[in-house]
Amino acid sequence: MTERVKQYINGEFASSQSEQWVAVTNPASNDVIAEVPCATESEMNAAIASAAKVFQTWKEVAAPERARLMLRYQHILKENHDKIAILLSSETGKTLADAKGDVWRGIEVVEQAANICSAMMGETVENVATGIDGYSYVQPLGVCAGITPFNFPAMIPLWMFPMAIACGNTFVLKPSEQVPLTAMLLAELFEKAGAPKGVLQIVHGKKEQVDFILTDPRVRTISFVGSVSVGEYIYKTGTDNLKRVQSFAGAKNHMVIMPDANKQQVINNLVGASVGAAGQRCMAISVAVFVGETKQWIPELKEALAQVQPGAWDDEQAGYGPLISPQAKQRVVNLINEGKAAGANCLLDGSDCQVAGLPNGNWVGPTLFSNVTTEMSIYTEEIFGPVLLTMEAEDLDEAIALVNSSPFGNGTSIFTANGAAARKYQHNIEVGNVGINVPIPVPLPFFSFTGWKGSFYGDLHAYGKQAVRFFTETKTVTARWFDDDIPSGPNMTIQLK
Ligand code: NAD
Repeated sequence: MTERVKQYINGEFASSQSEQWVAVTNPASNDVIAEVPCATESEMNAAIASAAKVFQTWKEVAAPERARLMLRYQHILKENHDKIAILLSSETGKTLADAKGDVWRGIEVVEQAANICSAMMGETVENVATGIDGYSYVQPLGVCAGITPFNFPAMIPLWMFPMAIACGNTFVLKPSEQVPLTAMLLAELFEKAGAPKGVLQIVHGKKEQVDFILTDPRVRTISFVGSVSVGEYIYKTGTDNLKRVQSFAGAKNHMVIMPDANKQQVINNLVGASVGAAGQRCMAISVAVFVGETKQWIPELKEALAQVQPGAWDDEQAGYGPLISPQAKQRVVNLINEGKAAGANCLLDGSDCQVAGLPNGNWVGPTLFSNVTTEMSIYTEEIFGPVLLTMEAEDLDEAIALVNSSPFGNGTSIFTANGAAARKYQHNIEVGNVGINVPIPVPLPFFSFTGWKGSFYGDLHAYGKQAVRFFTETKTVTARWFDDDIPSGPNMTIQLK
């Protein structure tokens, strides 16, 4: 019988009473590997009620104790690194190497959460007036919620709940219904690390369950990562319901290639950054902007891309895996066809791709376009597949203008040997995460992940110092202790002279 995924409510891994179940598939074969429930109203209510109740005790647990929980969690995650990666591969189709990276980038955030005492330190000014001190510190908010996408089933939940919980909050996670298994394993390991019952809750579902979270007055913050339209909806609905919202949405990331860049480095990095993970990364490079004569490198790029073939997660020869679903594949193929019909030159067409022994997988081969214009749908839309567009610019200024005209601002990179060009690019580019000779510049957790423009709605970003501000409220105290030795009142100014 097909496995029925449990929920994690009030510290119990329990079966749902729901009548609505969604199939979880192996995207390399489309075989059903599990079924996930859409939580009932009473299950949603129970999860949030439990999180609200447990918050009252969890917020009183000493900060170093909360930090030690994260130390233990980091250790257990590392011990189970490969187990998590294999499960993650089975539900996303990601290659094992890619899945391991997904887990590792999440573990790094848990490491930051283990430093929560330093991260939560407040500020003090002695003698804001004579004998009076001012200080501020941060306190947790209550129930925080997270809604996560399919493409990083370990890393993105781990962007959220460890920081929120280390700050003293409780957390309700609604993972993607396409990849719920990894989240459940993360919860099991959190419990093994000693997480008290109810500090983390996991419910499953789709729009209806998300709407429950968005409108429930007990939920104080919403962290969302996902597609453009849903991201906008979450931000508007969450803030309409007076919640603090951080909403990470879609992307269209450009790489600018300068004539003094190392050609082989550019080609190697472009291949990995564009078709790696089947292009299903929010930081994938989807537009390569060749400056000046570097456009002559495009035929070599095409050759290199043609060498990469998709395959099953445990196929060591596979460059990347399948798309997440038949619908996602159809969407990408439709966009490739639209690009061709609009007059772009399809140098490499992966829309009719087969993988031996896996005829039903959602395969798309590496695809490369030239002659692309900014009006074409392949340029205006996030494709989220192994498709790379090439464009050309006369000089760096023209390249910067092109990148800045995009409504998205998640990530970008420049490849150059010229420090002044790199400095000009990092200064002028209107994108939140910038790589210099680094193709996918996802910041480490002591910084924050800082997408801009249409790639992010909100004020405070994921992990790093900004996460602590997002998951806490600041309290400022002005304090005086009466002491006969300290002058106060009208004489005070006289004393100061
Ligand atoms: P998605 O928007 O379809 O789903 C994300 C989450 O929202 C899921 O949990 C889903 O159940 C829920 N959801 C879906 N439709 C909804 C609706 N109408 N109302 C309320 N909730 C809804 O995204 P996806 O396909 O799972 O993920 C891919 C997208 O995520 C891409 O666009 C990618 O760029 C983006 N992404 C962005 C970042 C970033 O940091 N900016 C990181 C990773 C992924």
